[in-house]
Parts: sequence; C-alpha cells; structure tokens
Amino acid sequence: MEMIQLSKRLAAAASYIPKSARLADIGSDHAYLPVALVQNQAIEFAVAGEVVKGPFEKAKNEVSSRKLEKVIDVRLGNGLEIISADDLINTVSICGMGGALIRDILNRGLQQEKLLKKEKLILQPNVGEKTLRTFLMQQQYKITAEEIVEENDKIYEIIVAEPSDQVVNYTDLELMFGPELLKERTDIFKEKWRRELDKLSYIQSELKKSTDPNMDKTQKIEREAEQIREVIK
Ligand code: SAM
Repeated sequence: MEMIQLSKRLAAAASYIPKSARLADIGSDHAYLPVALVQNQAIEFAVAGEVVKGPFEKAKNEVSSRKLEKVIDVRLGNGLEIISADDLINTVSICGMGGALIRDILNRGLQQEKLLKKEKLILQPNVGEKTLRTFLMQQQYKITAEEIVEENDKIYEIIVAEPSDQVVNYTDLELMFGPELLKERTDIFKEKWRRELDKLSYIQSELKKSTDPNMDKTQKIEREAEQIREVIK
C-alpha cells in the first residue's frame, strides 16, 4: 500500500497526536492526516469529519482505496456533531482553517457536549491565532506545546492544548505570540512577525495619506508594531 507523505505542516501537527489516540479529525478534506497516522501505526482509530460533500467524497475514496474503513470512519457533518460517545474520542485535530472558525467548532462541540473537556486538542489555525488562544484560556485549556513551521513560503502555527483543572491565565503578549513560541523565538517565528510588521507599516502609510487620519487606529497600530519590534529584537 502506498504510504501517504504528509506536508510539513500536517506532519508537524501529526507529531503531537499520541499513539493511543482515538482521533476526531475535523475538516479532514482528503483524510490525509488520519490515513498517514494509521499507516504508521501511530493511532488505533479515527473519525474523519467533513461538512462539504466534495471533500467528504475525496476522504471516503482515500480511505476505501487503502482498505482502511475499519479504522477510519469518514462522516459527513458539521464540526464535532459527527462524533458519538461510543467513539471514545480522546484527541481532536482541526487543521487548515481560520482561528475563529476553529473556535466556533470547539465552542459548538462544548455546547453539544460532544467535546467533554477531556480531549487533547491539536489545532493549526491559518490566521486568528490570538482569537483561538483566548478562547482556549477562557475554557481552561492549557497550551502544552506550540510549533511554527514554514512551507511554500507560508508560515503556520500548531497549538496543542489540554484541559486543565487549574485556572489558566495568559498575558496579552502570550495570547498574541503564543506562550510556548515566545520562549523559543525561533528564526521562523521572527520571520512571521517581521512580515506582520511590514503589513502594519503598509497600513500606517495608507492611513497617513488620508486627509482625516483615524488617530485611534494609527496609535493602536503603532503600539502593536512597537510590541512586535520589542519581541523580535
Ligand atoms: N485539515 C486539512 C488540512 O489541514 O490540510 C484540510 C484543510 S481545508 C483548507 C479545510 C476543510 O475544512 C475543508 O475541506 C472544509 O470543507 C472543512 N470544514 C470547514 N468548516 C467545517 C466544519 N464546520 N465542519 C467540518 N468540516 C469543515
């Protein structure tokens, strides 16, 4: 059977999924992540969830062409609604979406009691990392690991979170940059924030061209830029 070669981004996410995982991979598209994990005997069971018919069919074909239907169940549905108590899910991965969408999926999962605050979460937001970290903190999830990777000139963050029985508190700086990423401040991390600085300085220059510049916005951007310069210096 041909082995799936995961992208650098998905391989980084996969490396945080425990061997004993009964995984729910939400927004699974081709089901590459669960297929690769099962092929490497890294997990025992997965549900691959997809809300869109096309990617759902692709995921189903990927799983059936490899005869993995007994260990990977591909289901059509919105977010975590596709899992049931019998699945005994202990790990949830949600990769390749915006942070706000991941937050909404997790939040609905909590409301629907699909997410029981026992599961390990492996999340890879494409944008909106601060929004997601803030939600995790509010829900008392501790961020236990973070990684930042570059692939095809794009930079991605992976956030691993686990429920905590203690109050979780992060500073504004930690929520923005990532508590674990801040400790390391790798070259890729600095590159990500240099790019962010470039975007902010472009917005500043556009705002300055205005005949009636929005001073609140200008000052807010300046404060943010100063914070970034301080962190990556
Ligand atoms: N997880 C894969 C990855 O990281 O390569 C696929 C990422 S793809 C950009 C995002 C997928 O999430 C799409 O296939 C989309 O249909 C699916 N998706 C978006 N919202 C969803 C939801 N509420 N429930 C399930 N799937 C969703």
